[in-house]
Amino acid sequence: MSDCLFCRIVAGEIPAKIAYQDADVIAFHDINPQAPLHVLIIPRKHIATINDLQADDAALVGKLFLAAKHIATEAGYAENGYRVTMNCGADAGQTVFHIHLHLLAGRELGWPPG
Ligand code: IMP
Repeated sequence: MSDCLFCRIVAGEIPAKIAYQDADVIAFHDINPQAPLHVLIIPRKHIATINDLQADDAALVGKLFLAAKHIATEAGYAENGYRVTMNCGADAGQTVFHIHLHLLAGRELGWPPG
């Protein structure tokens, strides 16, 4: 998937400020942060949207959330709270078609989102 921006980050072809990585997951700071902490957590494997998830991907999706908890906790945001969200498709505002959790923390976050 050399045409996928996030696959190119996984491959090391595009620089990113890495927040966490393991065999299946990589997390890096958003280039346009919307909160004091704004990290994107992605599977190394290319999956375009939530609509493309298969039953076999269930454990991998769980690992994305565990990575979010780990990063938020390490950064000191576990107590005050943080938001984890994933956009699916154009109406939700998805612009990069490689699934990613947004982890946002460090300020009071409004609800509902725009
Ligand atoms: P989406 O709109 O939910 O698909 O989120 C895509 C996110 O990727 C946005 O928050 C962008 O700011 C972020 N982004 C786009 N290009 C890069 C990059 O090269 N490095 C880090 N974050 C990026």
